[in-house]
Amino acid sequence: MLRQFAFCPRIVYYRLILGQRPRHTIWMQQGLDHQEHLDRLLQRRRLGRFSMEGAQLLQNYALSSENWGVHGMVDTLLVNDIEVVPLEIKLGRANGGRGHRLQLLAYGLMAAEQMRKDFRQAFLLYGAKGNQVQPIVNVEKSRRQLKQVIAAIQDMETDMLKPDSAATAQQCAQCEHIRECNDRDF
Ligand code: SF4
Repeated sequence: MLRQFAFCPRIVYYRLILGQRPRHTIWMQQGLDHQEHLDRLLQRRRLGRFSMEGAQLLQNYALSSENWGVHGMVDTLLVNDIEVVPLEIKLGRANGGRGHRLQLLAYGLMAAEQMRKDFRQAFLLYGAKGNQVQPIVNVEKSRRQLKQVIAAIQDMETDMLKPDSAATAQQCAQCEHIRECNDRDF
């Protein structure tokens, strides 16, 4: 929901407040297949590039935090004696967008709280073989943004009002809620 909110808050309204479920599209299946492939590759790789040699590698791991009021399933989590490092695998090119950053940050904070360890870094893996790595920088600044987004989603759950959206025509064209958003001007 954090990632969806960053793309367009109305998607969260449709899914979280109205309970609509996205259709299972060919693109989603392609993404899942790709992720399974990268998960297997990652299991065979050395973790030195994340400065986490010898770390435990957990995959599709459930996390939650009462402090932050969030829960979710991280693709991959590296854990050593000192810290946790969440990794998220994306199909195609990385866009380094706010949504991915907030999602990874939430995973890191939840894991750190749950496992009582430090959280200092997170990485987005992308490309056909997942061998291109984008670090998520400035964890402190992102924490503030995460707090704001969580508060906005919680407010939406309370007032149940459909939010305005600044989504562009290009964003709406790739969104499956376009039929519900009949006030969009294209
Ligand atoms: S169609 Fe556009 S405004 Fe409506 S939910 Fe999708 S992205 Fe947001």
